[in-house]
Amino acid sequence: MTTGFFIALACILVFDGVVMAFFAWAVQAPRFARYRIRTPDRQRISTVRKAVNIGLNGVLALSFFAFVFTYFGGSLIVDQHLSVAVPGVLVFGEVLAALMLYDFMYYFLHRGMHHPMFMKHVHGVHHYVRFPTSAESIFLHPVENLAGLGLLCLAIAIVGPISPVSFLLVFFIHHVVNILVHSNLVLPHPVFKLFNFWALKHDIHHGKHLNRNYASIFPFWDQMFGTDA
Ligand SMILES: [Zn+2]
Ligand SMILES: [Zn+2]
Repeated sequence: MTTGFFIALACILVFDGVVMAFFAWAVQAPRFARYRIRTPDRQRISTVRKAVNIGLNGVLALSFFAFVFTYFGGSLIVDQHLSVAVPGVLVFGEVLAALMLYDFMYYFLHRGMHHPMFMKHVHGVHHYVRFPTSAESIFLHPVENLAGLGLLCLAIAIVGPISPVSFLLVFFIHHVVNILVHSNLVLPHPVFKLFNFWALKHDIHHGKHLNRNYASIFPFWDQMFGTDA
């Protein structure tokens, strides 16, 4: 992995932070109030506790990727410079395959975490936030954070090693989708159609039907296993 790769990775993380902060602000802002999917009735968790959890999960995720790049980097990413031209069709195939495999495995991980034992000790932390916003996309038990990222890396390793640009795209899409599905907003323009679809689907999982919509990117896994709503 080259310096250019890490600069691109850092830019994605900064972009993620900006998107997260914007949507966390927007959902509270009066001018966006009419676009909220649900209006929070009360805060169950203090701002300090949220900030500590989210901050620690961010540090944990960065440490996890530092560990994975150090010991398993060759299994995930082809050792080539970011500027090496990679055919677009190969990038598209690698990104789609890695995300589909990840989402398929994540479906079962997420569904398994709804077992009462895991719900009580692990996944319940995330669901304790009844009205999540983008910032709470990483309000998680650390075990769930590591399990999700481990699954993403496992999917990439099974498909890969993939090109650096494919890895950056998978990393970008995975993170941005996770932030957007927790936005609690439906925006009134056709350009946001996919964004709105994701947000509505995951809101159902946090609100009306905890045992529906386990997959986070592709709806067909839930349709296939009868848990779509
Ligand atoms: Zn859940
Ligand atoms: Zn969620």
